[in-house]
Amino acid sequence: MSPTSSTKESSPSTPKLFAQLSERQKRRRTEALRQSSSPEEINYVASKNFKDADAKYVFNYLIDHPEHAKKVRQFCEDLLIDKDKSLTDSDSLSMYVNADLTKRQYLLIRSMINKISPKLMPGYTKIQHEKEKCYPQTDMISVTEGFVKVNLQSLLDTTMYRLFNLITFNHDEIQEWVMFLKWGCDGASGQSMYKQTFSDDNINDSSIFMCSMVPLKLYISNSTDIVWQNPTPSSSRYCRPIYFKYEKENKELTKRIIDEIEEEIKHLRPFVYGNVIVNYNLVLTMVDTKICNDLTGTDSAMKCFICGATPRNMNKLDQIFDKTPNSDNYRFGISSLHAWIRTFECLLHIAYNLPFKSWSARGENKKIKEDSQICREMLKIQEEFRSKTGLLVDIVKQGAGKTNDGNTARRFFSEYKTSAQITGLNEDLIKRLFVILQVIASGLHINVPRRFQTVHTGNS
Ligand SMILES: [Zn+2]
Repeated sequence: MSPTSSTKESSPSTPKLFAQLSERQKRRRTEALRQSSSPEEINYVASKNFKDADAKYVFNYLIDHPEHAKKVRQFCEDLLIDKDKSLTDSDSLSMYVNADLTKRQYLLIRSMINKISPKLMPGYTKIQHEKEKCYPQTDMISVTEGFVKVNLQSLLDTTMYRLFNLITFNHDEIQEWVMFLKWGCDGASGQSMYKQTFSDDNINDSSIFMCSMVPLKLYISNSTDIVWQNPTPSSSRYCRPIYFKYEKENKELTKRIIDEIEEEIKHLRPFVYGNVIVNYNLVLTMVDTKICNDLTGTDSAMKCFICGATPRNMNKLDQIFDKTPNSDNYRFGISSLHAWIRTFECLLHIAYNLPFKSWSARGENKKIKEDSQICREMLKIQEEFRSKTGLLVDIVKQGAGKTNDGNTARRFFSEYKTSAQITGLNEDLIKRLFVILQVIASGLHINVPRRFQTVHTGNS
């Protein structure tokens, strides 16, 4: 049987070129040759085919020294790498930020990578320059020993300018867009104190008060078309600081700073890029209850800042429904994360106080509490959560509040059967609250039944 006659694809009259054949076909076609000659003979013929003396030398060398093949291969592969290839400065910065690298880490990775490809990663100074492009102009940032304040207009415009470099859109059409952002502030105490003196003795770096904003989405005005959306709205990744100050959070400071920034918001000019006009819409929702209380003039942390109900009123449902909620204060929104944690903590406290069935231990209840009933109840519940579900519930962490976080709360509610057993609370109550929390967190528009709506506005 001749080697070509067996190939079905090509007719015997026009045999394919050897190079075009598949590995299997090549094997078949050379079968007769391999049978009739020894490998040495074949290699000899092959080496004779090299016109170039160097190539012939390398070929023969490899046949004599197959143990060096790996080194030669590595050398060949290195030749194939494009040594002039490099990451762009902005790609490098993006990696630097997203991987949360330190300067030292970046330089270490760079020195390793650049051994193979010397120009692949740009130097650290290039990253610094690229970073500077993300900042507002320096004269728009006021810095003193005790605080830093960024001009809001310029911060927003810089953010927009950076975004416009990312997105693609129709440049010819005149369009009106809206940039939707959330902002807010909070204080944090117990920061590390550093060995540095301040010329003003009143400044103390153990407490810090901070105001920041997060861009959420950019959409076309009067439509649902979204141009850009923050992929991680709850992460600090896109968070932009507006103001920070070394000072303990207090009512006056909160009010003054919020008023100042709200004044700036009132006078914001739209951002114009070609034919596109972008209006800013900032909502003050990054706030905790303490800030809400300060801003609404609610004097007690136990009081509801929407309807003014005190703990005393809260067990009397008819009194609660008679209250008129201040709908202005709806603007602070509901943090779905904190709704989980607070509802969870509320249920825990009810469970601790089950022995005397009252919210705060006063009068004779105080005596029961002093008899350490509550402590026993508390420890028993915490212990059981730990052994049955592995959850650390309501345990005070050193300098950082309690171990109760969103995950603990979510587990508490989703395993409502176990939670009810441990706490002694009604299973149905926990389950129903679980449903409500899931509805709040779903992000969907919810049709509230009419009978609840009337309760809501206090008209019943
Ligand atoms: Zn209320």
